[in-house]
Amino acid sequence: MPYIAMQNETLDPLSHAVKELFGLSYLFPYQRLVIANILEAAQAAGIGISWPRQLPGELPDEQPGEEPGEGLPEALFDRESSGRQIVILPTGAGKSLCFQLPAMLMEGPSLVIYPILGLMADQERRLAERGFSPVLLRGGQSREERDAIWKKLRSGQSRFLIANPEVLLSPQVMGRLKEIKIIHIVIDEAHCVSEWGETFRPSYLEIGKIIEAAAAPLVTAFTATAGAAVLQKIEKHIFGGRGAQKIVGNPDRKNIRYAAQGCILRNLAVRDLVFANARPAIVFCSSRPGTEKLARYLRNEMFERALPWHRESIPRETVPMEIRFYHAGLSREEKKETEDWFLRSKNAVLTTTCAYGLGIDKSDIRTVIHRDCPPSVEAYLQESGRAGRDGLPSRAIFLWGPEDERSMSRARTDADKKRISRLLAYARDIGSCRREALLDLLDYDGEKDSPGSSCCDVCDKEARSGLREEQSLGDFFRRNRRCYTAGEASGVLARAENIRWQEEDAEEAIDYLIKTGKLKKLKNPLWRNKISIGPYPQGQRTIKKLTANHTNQHELLQRNPPVFLWKHLKRPVF
Ligand SMILES: [Zn+2]
Repeated sequence: MPYIAMQNETLDPLSHAVKELFGLSYLFPYQRLVIANILEAAQAAGIGISWPRQLPGELPDEQPGEEPGEGLPEALFDRESSGRQIVILPTGAGKSLCFQLPAMLMEGPSLVIYPILGLMADQERRLAERGFSPVLLRGGQSREERDAIWKKLRSGQSRFLIANPEVLLSPQVMGRLKEIKIIHIVIDEAHCVSEWGETFRPSYLEIGKIIEAAAAPLVTAFTATAGAAVLQKIEKHIFGGRGAQKIVGNPDRKNIRYAAQGCILRNLAVRDLVFANARPAIVFCSSRPGTEKLARYLRNEMFERALPWHRESIPRETVPMEIRFYHAGLSREEKKETEDWFLRSKNAVLTTTCAYGLGIDKSDIRTVIHRDCPPSVEAYLQESGRAGRDGLPSRAIFLWGPEDERSMSRARTDADKKRISRLLAYARDIGSCRREALLDLLDYDGEKDSPGSSCCDVCDKEARSGLREEQSLGDFFRRNRRCYTAGEASGVLARAENIRWQEEDAEEAIDYLIKTGKLKKLKNPLWRNKISIGPYPQGQRTIKKLTANHTNQHELLQRNPPVFLWKHLKRPVF
């Protein structure tokens, strides 16, 4: 089971606490396990734990049927390394909760170590938004500022100290660490200890000294990389070779069906997908203006154009009625308002950048569409993992196509380029199961069984190679060989009621296919600039030859519509 659903009547203390303090109604099994281990070790070390009101102070693993170690090898639970954990989780798989929740329950401050200032600031913001008043240690703080920080921690006013190793290693801070009685040290991105990784931070090699100076009984290291060599380094430099429990979070989400499709016109593809798939839906875009433009486009398509096809052929309740955008450039109030609106809505479409998700938890998102290519497999899994947190069937759809060249050109380093091209290769491949391909890309080698039906478009034999416009426009020009110039064809296509795209869309798609040789512009004086079919791949279905009646082209099109949107709308193909 990819999640642990919580029924109100059977709330164990952990579920109750996560609901009370974070408003969440689910915990992934690995989150439950990591938290239970921390609390158990805390209890063994004599640290006070205060559960939210009206609950007995019992640990969650005392609940029948809720053994935290369920499904994991017994060997993982050696009491020897109690209090020391290495948690292997892809970035963004919900690890913050693993230390935030214990920090709220245990009596004493937690220290969270990050490699870079950006991550520190992000965590600070997220904790502050939840009302947890964290304190942040950074270079350049005055003596007064530092004194205020120590005071807040000692008095229990703040339970979170956020810092990077460089600041912690300064003699002035090292001298203070013991006296503030830190009970839990959390190291994020622990793989930064690895010299051969791209994320290497020399200061991470000295984290062991910090742990020793603080003498905290609990230490949890999070890493996204599970290679044996990296784990060894973490054990050596962070845990001083004393061993630690290892917990592998299974990133596989069996209730999500993965699919990918190539297209030239992405906004149009998104429009068809939000019709054909269940909502609430999120569409991830790579830029802030992109989210606004797409939301405008979708709104225009749904309402302003008052499309006859959605009144006639699509039941009204399937029309997405609410479309908004979200990105980090919005004001705090705008963000809050959009978040609240989206949380409540059952039929909404939200276009967003990767800014969505920081501190927002909506468990019933049914469809996640990636209009643009995210920067890495980890980012893709994190964002697509926003779907179906309630455990019900959900879909993740990835769009690829000519626009990916732009994502590639935005990549700054060769490593970034490599990450993107791995993801694009995943999208274009229709030969292997997408779930397996994604887990392989993450180097995950744990349990990997397919959920059977609704695993992915490949397993369901619905994956299609090539761009979706390619075949439909190919069909159109095969039927209407030498009848139209690009401009004329665009006009005809835009007028066809069952296609419903705009003239400039049609033109863009035709132009692209001419550029790539799939269609060709004739040079013969008799047919100058009329479009014919290029050397089309063999084996595609042959279209019955039709006699084009030049005076009645429009009628011809009505009788024999291109398979394009018409097909998509009648039968969801994703
Ligand atoms: Zn599959």
